[in-house]
Amino acid sequence: MLPQGNHSWLTLAGLLIALGWLIWFSWRYAWWRRTLPYHLPRILMYHMIAPPRRGSRYNGMRVSPHQFERQVRWLRNKGWHFYTVSELVELGTHVKPRSVAITFDDGYADNLMEALPVLQKYQAKATVYVLAGEKIEDWSSQKNKAHDSGELLSEPRMSVSQQRQLLASGLIEIGSHTLTHANLLKLNVNETMKELVESKQRLEVELGVEIRSFAYPFGYFKVGDEARVKEAGYRSAVTTERGVMDPADLAPYQLPRLKVSGKEGMLAFMNRMRTGWRGANK
Ligand SMILES: [Zn+2]
Repeated sequence: MLPQGNHSWLTLAGLLIALGWLIWFSWRYAWWRRTLPYHLPRILMYHMIAPPRRGSRYNGMRVSPHQFERQVRWLRNKGWHFYTVSELVELGTHVKPRSVAITFDDGYADNLMEALPVLQKYQAKATVYVLAGEKIEDWSSQKNKAHDSGELLSEPRMSVSQQRQLLASGLIEIGSHTLTHANLLKLNVNETMKELVESKQRLEVELGVEIRSFAYPFGYFKVGDEARVKEAGYRSAVTTERGVMDPADLAPYQLPRLKVSGKEGMLAFMNRMRTGWRGANK
């Protein structure tokens, strides 16, 4: 009798372990979420293409060059069509199924050094939202007062000539992310219009192209800002709201995006493309 008793205990332990793993896996990857229809384009949000830095609290904003290449290669192999944000908005309902717009915020130098070679290798387009002013606020502390490391401010960002190199590739659209990484919630109407209009004008003079798209810093905007972005002459604006755009019911000044974090692997990325979520709560 004794050996049999031991066996049933082992079986029970095994079942409990398997159940625990299943619950963990389901929470982590949320495989049960419904697939978003593939005629709805995905706009992906990236920041830096760089390896994680030890002890940094911004590693979610750093997707390693290796990981970024795996993601772009996967998109290319799975037949996704790459567009700039302005192309997506212009195409409207004529956009192909499985369309994706890769975007980068803040204009970090690694977008040129690390991301562009990958984009060229797979002929993938992208949109880069840059800051047009010389004097930039330390925006790491603006969203969360505890974040005062100045780390994001000290990350190298692209010069005008580097932005021109991006454009010369023929794969990149450049959009505005204001002059100073302004928190629009804290600005009055005049200050908001200055950030919107002057950043657009400066970039157009420096780069010699029309600046058609805008990205709200921190994803923040107040009542009326969408109309102001339009009044400033932009044709679209991206937020940090999670979601996919619906070309049949387009809100061009409130385009949602899917954030790609440096902390997630390929399975999470594939989930993100399919459902908009990488797991149960993210
Ligand atoms: Zn930003």
